[in-house]
Amino acid sequence: MSAEHITCLIIGSGPAGYTAAIYAARADLKPIMYTGLTPGGQLTETTEVDNFPGYPKGVTGPVLMEDLKAQAERFGTQVRFGLITKADLNASPKRLVVDDTTEITADTVIISTGASAKWLGLENENRLRLNAGGVSACAVCDGFFFKGQEVAIVGAGDTAAEEATYLAKLCKKVYMIVRRGEMRASKAMQHRVMNTPNIEVLWNSETEDILGKDSVEGAIIKNTATGEKRTLTITGFFVAIGHKPNTDIFKGQITMDDMGYIQVVPGTSKTNIDGVFAVGDCADKTYRQAITAAGSGCMGALDAERYLASAGIH
Ligand code: NDP
Repeated sequence: MSAEHITCLIIGSGPAGYTAAIYAARADLKPIMYTGLTPGGQLTETTEVDNFPGYPKGVTGPVLMEDLKAQAERFGTQVRFGLITKADLNASPKRLVVDDTTEITADTVIISTGASAKWLGLENENRLRLNAGGVSACAVCDGFFFKGQEVAIVGAGDTAAEEATYLAKLCKKVYMIVRRGEMRASKAMQHRVMNTPNIEVLWNSETEDILGKDSVEGAIIKNTATGEKRTLTITGFFVAIGHKPNTDIFKGQITMDDMGYIQVVPGTSKTNIDGVFAVGDCADKTYRQAITAAGSGCMGALDAERYLASAGIH
C-alpha cells in the first residue's frame, strides 16, 4: 500500500499550528495536522490567559485551544492525534512516519512542535503546577495573579532576570533563587536585577521543597555554601531555568542553533530546506507568547502557499 500523500502537513497543535491550519485550510491546501502527545500544547497546562487579543474577559488555556481547533476544523483541517516519530525532510516529497507505524509523504511541512519548559523535578512542584496552585514557568502569563504578593523565581539566565524584574513591578517582593554564586544573565540584565529594591537575590541556593496543600504557601531554600536552610513565605513560585525546543527528530537535517531552536530566514518562516517551515516556539527563544506563535503560524501557511504555487504543485 502506498503512503498517504499530504499537500500541507502541520506538526504540532499549539497556537502556531492551529493558526497555520486556519490559513492553510482557507487557501485550500487541505492541511492535515498531527497533534503530538499534548494536543493544544503548552497552553493547555495554564489557567487564565488574559493577554490573547480578542478575549476581553480572559479565557482559560484549554478553552482557547478548543476555540482555535474548532476554527481550524471549520475550514476543513483534519486534526489527528499522533506523534511524528521519524522524518526525512530532504526527500522529495518529504517522508515521515507517524507513531512508528504509518508512513506519509508531504509536499510542504510546517513544523510547530513548540518547546517545553524545564522544571526542577520536585514532587510538590509538579503537583501544584498541575493543580494551578501557583507554580508557573511564565511570569508574563501568570504574574498578574500575584499582584501585591511575595513570590520566588528560580534561575539566573536572561529569562529569569527579565521575569524577576517584570514580577517586581507587580509584586511586593521577589526572591530570586540562584544556584551558583554568579548569574549567567547578561551584565545589563544583572544590573537591572541588582538595582531593583524589592528583588532579593539568594546566591548559592537550591530549592529543597515547595510548601502548600492547594496553593503555594512557602518554599524551603538551602544555601549550599553554608548548609543553612530558610523558609520563604510566598504565594507564587516561578521556574525560569530554560526551555527545550521539541526538535530532536529533525536534528542533523535542518539548521538549528546550539540549543536546538530551528533557524529561519529572518522575517519569514523559511528553513534551510525548501518546503519546510518552522513557526512558534520551536523557532523562537525570545518572545514565546501565544500571540507571537499564532502570528508566525500565519506566516508559515502563507510561505507554504507561495512555495507550492512557485513550485507548480498547487
Ligand atoms: P539559560 O539556559 O540561559 O539559563 C538557565 C538558567 O537556569 C541558568 O542560570 C542555570 O543556572 C539555571 N538552572 C538550570 N537548571 C537549574 C536547576 N535545576 N536549578 C536551578 N537553576 C537552574 O535559559 P534562559 O531561558 O534564561 O535563556 C535562554 C536563551 O534565551 C539565552 O540564550 C538567553 O540569552 C536568551 N534570552 C534573551 C533575552 C533577551 O535578550 N532579552 C530574554 C530571555 C532569554 P547556571 O547558570 O548555574 O547553569
